[in-house]
Amino acid sequence: DHLANKIAAGEVVERPASVVKELVENSIDAGASWVKVDLVEAGLQRIRIIDDGAGMDEEDCERAFHRHATSKITDENDLFHVRTLGFRGEALASISAVSRLTIQTSTGEKAGTKMELEGGHLLSRGKSDARKGTDITVEELFFNTPARLKYMKTIHTELGHVTDVLNRMSLAHPDVQILCTHNEKQIFKTNGRGDLLQAIANIYGMNVAKKMIPIHTETADFKVDGYIAKPEVYRASRHYISTIINGRFIRSIPLNKAILQGYHTLLPIGKSPIVVLNIDMDPILVDVNVHPSKMEVRFSKEKELYDLVEETVRQTFRKQTL
Ligand code: ADP
Ligand code: MG
Repeated sequence: DHLANKIAAGEVVERPASVVKELVENSIDAGASWVKVDLVEAGLQRIRIIDDGAGMDEEDCERAFHRHATSKITDENDLFHVRTLGFRGEALASISAVSRLTIQTSTGEKAGTKMELEGGHLLSRGKSDARKGTDITVEELFFNTPARLKYMKTIHTELGHVTDVLNRMSLAHPDVQILCTHNEKQIFKTNGRGDLLQAIANIYGMNVAKKMIPIHTETADFKVDGYIAKPEVYRASRHYISTIINGRFIRSIPLNKAILQGYHTLLPIGKSPIVVLNIDMDPILVDVNVHPSKMEVRFSKEKELYDLVEETVRQTFRKQTL
């Protein structure tokens, strides 16, 4: 089982940013109103994530480190109704398999649980205080997988990947306050008040936020909300198109294409707009279980969705020019 966890870790845990992504997702799934991320050396030395979510009791905490242990789905059928960010039950097992991990967690009623693991092996178990929430420290990531460790880039690059993750999280969940320090200096902070435009301003600056147009469309199957930048605010990369399905940041080439087609000739050739789209749909219409990173999805009514997005963007600018 330890070997299986180490192999799974290869898919789930690519670099410090993947640990941050999985742990912040867990905090959000646990209903946290804030998540604090403290990094030392871009997370290569230490990543600490503290939240004020539901926490776990002792039994759940122990179970959480077993592979495929998830409290979020109970049977195969639930797989088609996933509303949480996690559901594969792989992250904690994988992360703990390739690091030294300490967890303190409590549901807030009585003393909490503290566990220390090293390379997936339980080293100690005891009590922690009763503060409601979870506090996880991951140290010396990849200490027992030297081949993976060798592929880590500079502190600067790894920190950039973490910032990308936090940016995406803050766009998908502006209602959760996210704070991040690096080597004890604050590098990221959202207010958690749920204002998407504020989250956009936080990432791209006030000047971009001022050029954003709110959009909203609803059909029987889809609800599309968000902001699309005026064509004059373009970038050289599609990296500035953010698509969020049911609270999950995803990558979809056809969805990007639909957005670009909506802008049609308004953008210079080869340029991309700044867009943040939140699309909500019945989970039955989207398959998120395509890849362990859960960034790839498949839609069952894909043509309807792409047409709706393209048309919504197009109509927005038609109205603008009138
Ligand atoms: P998944 O998120 O896919 O269920 P994980 O390995 O990420 O799998 O987490 C395993 C389980 O541990 C979760 O299903 C959840 O019950 C619990 N858990 C993990 N992190 C937290 C947290 N921050 N607060 C409360 N419970 C948590
Ligand atoms: Mg998870």
